[in-house]
Amino acid sequence: MTRAAKTQQIVRKARQRGRRRDGDSIHLEPLDEEEKQGTKASAQTHSRGEFLDRSRPSHMLMSRLLALRRTVGNRRPQSVVRPGLDSGTSVNLTVMRESPAPSPASATTPTPAGTPGATPAATPDPDKISGKEWWDANEGKSPYIKSDKISDLESDFQSKVNEFESALKAAGASISIDTTKRPAERAHVLHYAWQVAKGEIKASAVPSMTGVDITWDHGSEAASKKGAQEILDAATVKSKPSLTSNHIDGKAIDWTITWTGDLKIKKKDGTEIEIKSKPRSGGDPGNTELHSVGEGYGVIKGLFTGPKQKRDAPHWSSDGS
Ligand SMILES: [Zn+2]
Repeated sequence: MTRAAKTQQIVRKARQRGRRRDGDSIHLEPLDEEEKQGTKASAQTHSRGEFLDRSRPSHMLMSRLLALRRTVGNRRPQSVVRPGLDSGTSVNLTVMRESPAPSPASATTPTPAGTPGATPAATPDPDKISGKEWWDANEGKSPYIKSDKISDLESDFQSKVNEFESALKAAGASISIDTTKRPAERAHVLHYAWQVAKGEIKASAVPSMTGVDITWDHGSEAASKKGAQEILDAATVKSKPSLTSNHIDGKAIDWTITWTGDLKIKKKDGTEIEIKSKPRSGGDPGNTELHSVGEGYGVIKGLFTGPKQKRDAPHWSSDGS
């Protein structure tokens, strides 16, 4: 064998080893469908004899080998990417676990970075949607919390109520205060809860108020009415709350006044009156003699005509409204 023939033989064997190695490396790879197609294409190329064409210079062969390795190698990261996607999912799950009440919509459609507060209108925040849960979570907090303290009333009316209360207590009457000052925010919520629940206004038409964070529109009229009615029920609202109530100005008090037997009470002018008439309560309709005594102190019983459920039995104010 000539030196040239020997060299040719060595080169041929080296090429054959290269083909086997390359073949092994392909078939040992765990391939997905796309990779199989890629391999299939390479195999077709291979079978056509183009890939290992011995007529080509060896540097071309090597470049084709490298090209195939790159092709296969470039596909490898897919199997690396897949766990990456999985870990991406687990990040989402972690977020959902950390969030006490995640919105399904916000979990699947996160707010894009750089657009804070960009929430789709069609997916109301569960923390803001009207209903019993909203009321229970917010009614005891600022700015919605109502007061049952006479000391929270407007100063002039406050002194009048204090005098009348002292006379009532001295006479032995029982007094239970429900509400004195009612924030405008609370009045707003209860007023529009009534209007939405009774169909007087569409949920989407409720005006906004600074500081009031509630969503009335549930997406359907029936659901919106239900949410509003839940608030009325939870707040035990029996009549339509006013937006301009004397309570908002600290000039009204809701209290239940009752007594047993005859009520001997001191009037504003210092004289005493013995109330023998019934009913033995300050409500509506209540004891008119007591109403007169109250008026003397500047605490005037609110008397409202209409169906019984629209009356406001415990309501007294600076002007009777
Ligand atoms: Zn009242």
